[in-house]
Amino acid sequence: MKISKFKATPVAMHDQPLLNSTGVHESYRIRTIVQIETTDGYTGAGETSGDISTEIENNRSWIEGHDPRQMTLARLNWSGSPRAWAAVETAMLDAAAKHAELPVCDYIGGRARDRVEWAAYLFYKFADENGKGEVATGEALDPEGFVRQAEEFVTKYGFKALKIKGGFFDPETDIETFRLLRKRFPKKDGYEIRIDPNAVWTVETSIRVAKAIEEYEPQYLEDPTDSIADHAELKKHTDIPTASNMCVSAFAHVKPNAKLDGIDVILGDHHHWGGILAYKETGVLCRVMGWGLSGHSNNALGVSQAAMLHACAATPELNFPADSHYPWTDTDEDVIKGGKLQFKDGFMDVPDVPGLGVEIDEEALSQRHEQFKTDTLSNRQELVLSIDPNAKSSGPKNDRIINFPNYQKPRW
Ligand code: MG
Repeated sequence: MKISKFKATPVAMHDQPLLNSTGVHESYRIRTIVQIETTDGYTGAGETSGDISTEIENNRSWIEGHDPRQMTLARLNWSGSPRAWAAVETAMLDAAAKHAELPVCDYIGGRARDRVEWAAYLFYKFADENGKGEVATGEALDPEGFVRQAEEFVTKYGFKALKIKGGFFDPETDIETFRLLRKRFPKKDGYEIRIDPNAVWTVETSIRVAKAIEEYEPQYLEDPTDSIADHAELKKHTDIPTASNMCVSAFAHVKPNAKLDGIDVILGDHHHWGGILAYKETGVLCRVMGWGLSGHSNNALGVSQAAMLHACAATPELNFPADSHYPWTDTDEDVIKGGKLQFKDGFMDVPDVPGLGVEIDEEALSQRHEQFKTDTLSNRQELVLSIDPNAKSSGPKNDRIINFPNYQKPRW
């Protein structure tokens, strides 16, 4: 069994004007879909963030001719980035698991659960210019609007864990949002609330916010501030668990975190840590260290969502509902056959078919690739300026401006 064909296709899909600590999401999100085929006709798909088609193409000679079941040396020998490997490994596992006639999670050792629980990933946002989106197309620019968005997510998908993506407005606004959200979704009814301002606060501000929201029983405080050491300082002042996908986001960060004891809950992500097998290994590290394990998510299409589903199913240490950005993918903009994967009561069922359980819709893939090549990206400058006339661009990082206006950190 050898890989005989492969291709990497960058795609662009509509994105809603979501706000975070650096600014506003652009009008399109970019992903790369990797597809392989083996000599005996098995296919596999993988997905990762951004356009990394060039990097993957540069590894063509490495990928072609490889046995997708031989993963151990493949991981050691990979010379590219973890996020490129994540897509290649997912495609290899998909094909190998189909050959073994097992779902991916069972192929890699067996499932710890038949369904996986997810968290609502809630944002302050502008109304979408074209009213596009699967959910919450209206604006949420204040705490009341934020709670309305949460109600939409809870009604539509059944989530019990709610994540506040804070850090765009001042900390007082985030505190008020937390208060209102807790009032509407009480802990006694089974709702958990977490907040993530993406390291936009100083340690002093983080302590102040922690003190203000303690009475609302946060599930955890995610990346309020910048470093492992800063979180260790924060922990001297609050019992709210700290969580991170920013300062502990790779194997190299495990030892410093063990030494400084800054982060209590790791938000694993196979795109960041280097694959589905790496997610399982993150779970082992969390077990050894006594840390919690949750999941990070960003802009996923169906292939990444399926990969996260199998990674979470196969990792017994997962003990928090993982974030899922997937509801923000438009109903008609995925690249998989048969429509989007579905949430039920806040959970997603692990498929019982061989492989990942998703197949690429070639026509949809081709359309999104055309969109990537031809459509002009809008950085939504006017929307931000309408509420912050002083917003200034820090300039494009490359030919695509990221999150206008890219505020400096810490901001408060
Ligand atoms: Mg985060």
